[in-house]
Amino acid sequence: MKNNKSIETNAIRNHLERSQFQEHSTPLYLSSSFVFQDAGSMADAFEENTTNTNIYSRFSNPNTSEFVQKIAAMEGAEDGYAFATGMAAIFSTFAALLQSGDHVLSARNVFGSTHTLFTKYLPKWQINTDYFDIDKPDTIADLIQPTTKIIYAETPTNPGVDVLDLEHLGKIARAHQVLLIIDNCFATPYIQQPLRYGADLVVHSATKLIDGQGRVLGGVVVGKKTLIADIYAFSRNSGPALSPFNAWILSKSLETLAVRVEKHCDNALKLAQYLEEHPKIARVKYPFLPTHPQYAVARKQMTLGGTIVAVELKGGLASGRRFLDAIKMCSLTANLGDAKTIVTHPASTTHSKLDKQELSASGISPGLVRISVGLEHITDIIQDIDQALYS
Ligand SMILES: *Cc1c(COP(=O)(O)O)cnc(C)c1O
Repeated sequence: MKNNKSIETNAIRNHLERSQFQEHSTPLYLSSSFVFQDAGSMADAFEENTTNTNIYSRFSNPNTSEFVQKIAAMEGAEDGYAFATGMAAIFSTFAALLQSGDHVLSARNVFGSTHTLFTKYLPKWQINTDYFDIDKPDTIADLIQPTTKIIYAETPTNPGVDVLDLEHLGKIARAHQVLLIIDNCFATPYIQQPLRYGADLVVHSATKLIDGQGRVLGGVVVGKKTLIADIYAFSRNSGPALSPFNAWILSKSLETLAVRVEKHCDNALKLAQYLEEHPKIARVKYPFLPTHPQYAVARKQMTLGGTIVAVELKGGLASGRRFLDAIKMCSLTANLGDAKTIVTHPASTTHSKLDKQELSASGISPGLVRISVGLEHITDIIQDIDQALYS
């Protein structure tokens, strides 16, 4: 699926063959199974064990294949497989590639449910995880054990928008012959392609910017063909497949990913610059602000700064709560990467069960507010946030 077309063109022109009706837009193939002419061709399809021939929509479906092909082409990947959610993609990847006794080395700052997989579920199968600190990249190689199979990271991270150096991680993974898996959800393939820096697999929650309008859930893994074959075999039998309807929505969404992401990032940078000067704000973190601790790395590997702005309110937990209560237009909801601007306060919501030490270890301070900057006019976004800060 690698080709020399641009990301935008791949997201638009990489579609299924037209049916006899010569439709311009890919139809929705709501079919649980697919028919064969005779016993021989059916036997061949089962023998093949790939998604090349559709048999049953738990294995593959034309709409999910189109979606996968687009993402794979945009990421520069050989192959891929699509899932019902981002977490299904992440869990199925671990389940397919890890054996009992294997070790995972992960960045400490990972998505909450990924952290729960590492700490609560993978240990049931004697798979243990150690965390490295993202601000100590020189210590990563020393934490690799003879049983380490995977180095895992997200960049930028959720919710703190820390940036990890993909080139550095790629070099370590190659030197120690371990797999590098990157959650590229916050950047999207439009902004950053981790496979170019030596990642073996890229995972996405398509629920976020790829859908971009808060409608459906989805996930996808792309990368080396041999690894995808193992992930496909596991998934074909365990059933986390993406629904054709959601695949159809997501594939359509990709046609506008580039223009949406451009606008998201333009609004996010403007908001970040405005808030940096704001008297009620202690600190602003945005990958494309020169004050971001990994600004140079962000400029090296990302073409834009992303849609998430992390701010530290003066006054900690109480200010965070007051801010959320005073917000009028922006939404208080758990999603991100939506056309609608979303504000969240992790310390009183998603991460409220963590104590002070655990919070700070995950890079979350009591006054941290995460803003997923939407596509409304920037003047209206700033006005709402401003009035809430002064409430
Ligand atoms: C949302 C998210 C996930 C999980 O995706 P779902 O589609 O909600 O299962 C994984 N990683 C990151 C970085 C996310 O933001």
